[in-house]
Amino acid sequence: MGLKTVQQYKDSLKDGRVVYYKGELVADVTTHPDLSVAVDTMALDYHLAELPEFRDLATVDDEVLGERINRYYYLPKNGDDLLKQFELIVASTRMGDGFIPLAHDIGSDALNAISITANSMGNQEYIQRIENYRTYLKKTDLAVVTAMTDVKGDRMLRPSDPEQNHADYYVRVVDKNDKGIIVRGAKIHITGAPYSNEIFVIPSRAMSEADADYAVAFAIPVNTKGIKMVCRPFQGHISSLEFPNSRPVRVHTDALIIFDDVFIPWERVFLCGEWKHSATLVYNFALMHRRTGCAYRIPMSEQFLGVAKAIADYNGISNAPHVREKLTELVIYLETLRSMSRAACLDFVTYGGIAVPNPISTNIAKYYFANEYHNVIKIIEDLAGGVLVTAPSYKDYLVPELQGDIDKYLSAKKGYPAEQRLRMLDLIRRISGADRETIALHGEGSLQAQRMTILAEARQVIGQCQKMVEQQAEIV
Ligand SMILES: Cc1cc2nc3c(=O)[nH]c(=O)nc-3n(C[C@H](O)[C@H](O)[C@H](O)COP(=O)(O)OP(=O)(O)OC[C@H]3O[C@@H](n4cnc5c(N)ncnc54)[C@H](O)[C@@H]3O)c2cc1C
Repeated sequence: MGLKTVQQYKDSLKDGRVVYYKGELVADVTTHPDLSVAVDTMALDYHLAELPEFRDLATVDDEVLGERINRYYYLPKNGDDLLKQFELIVASTRMGDGFIPLAHDIGSDALNAISITANSMGNQEYIQRIENYRTYLKKTDLAVVTAMTDVKGDRMLRPSDPEQNHADYYVRVVDKNDKGIIVRGAKIHITGAPYSNEIFVIPSRAMSEADADYAVAFAIPVNTKGIKMVCRPFQGHISSLEFPNSRPVRVHTDALIIFDDVFIPWERVFLCGEWKHSATLVYNFALMHRRTGCAYRIPMSEQFLGVAKAIADYNGISNAPHVREKLTELVIYLETLRSMSRAACLDFVTYGGIAVPNPISTNIAKYYFANEYHNVIKIIEDLAGGVLVTAPSYKDYLVPELQGDIDKYLSAKKGYPAEQRLRMLDLIRRISGADRETIALHGEGSLQAQRMTILAEARQVIGQCQKMVEQQAEIV
């Protein structure tokens, strides 16, 4: 028990879980040629905590247990706790070359959101259960992901609406007994689930009274009977590496998780029918997770600035006025995201006894990141030039009668050989693909979700501003 090593994490995944990948049932995710690459990405969280230089960031002395625990499962009490967790996510994403390890962060966002919900309900049973589960995670250092997004069916219809094709587009309770509940339904896009230990399942929206069966939250081991996971294929990521690469490939997959009448013991159930509190859980998870999402994007934005400057240097255009303008845009992008995210942690508010990042600045930071993302990619594509998509492959470069020509014609500024330029273009293709564009838009909720939250959260400030100008106009 206690902090897990990389090897202990990997060994823990050999547990009979049901994972499908490209039409096949996977016997062992840790030895599968593609999935093992994703396992290594998640393992970075455990690796980082083993390194002496990250020990104080990745772990913390827990005053409740009197033990050193993973920082993610520590209850945040103030802005400093939130900021340290934020810096931990930044550090681990940097270590993953811009890929998030994901072993603990999204799970800890759900853990804290459930604690807040239980505390604000004042439900002693739920408070005790989630505290017991937090203690279990502190002692076991398990990898936990969060399954929030339901498959949803017709988006304009409520979960229980009889007009939906069937009643299972949102995960729901289909039976209960004195030992626990039985759930059915499916969650989609769940990153890292096939190689995590446990899954938090939470509702994806506010529920009405008619949707009470859908107001359900729980945590269960990934190998629980009745759970099937179907992975997004990701061979493309690996084969897009044109150049020999000694740095490990980092990648994740996202799963469709099918819950085929799965039994959940009561001690793992944190919401069951209390439909009025579904909104509190959804709201708090989205808030915590948007702060986490901003942390993911700082190392990515550092990459964007770095590749833009590098390729501009290689093309000899760094000092052109429009290029300096574009580099300035990228600096503004990175530093606005960094400073707003840090400020959101320090300007925290307390919900249900737990510190959470400032809701308005968190949502604005996430919205800003996502809304400007495509402009940032446009700048990089512009600076790189058309060769970004038309460059010959490394296999062509290795042909003896072509190598001299490629060296001659695809070099640009003196001092930067063609191979260096082509390697940088390969990195740009990998970090700016359509999958990253989509996750920037939809990850942690679509743009519209942040706009709605910003407007709702700003009600008070809008009212104050209106009152102020009405006083200045001597209307009131
Ligand atoms: C790569 C990736 C990884 C992800 N990882 C996770 C994860 O680990 N866990 C998790 O829980 N989720 C995860 N997500 C899900 C992510 O949070 C969702 O993609 C996001 O919330 C949008 O939901 P959706 O994809 O179902 O979009 P859709 O609901 O299909 O939305 C499509 C469009 O329809 C609009 N729309 C939807 N409903 C309505 C409505 N009622 N009225 C008006 N307009 C509407 C949306 O605004 C959007 O413009 C991930 C997503 C991606 C892309």
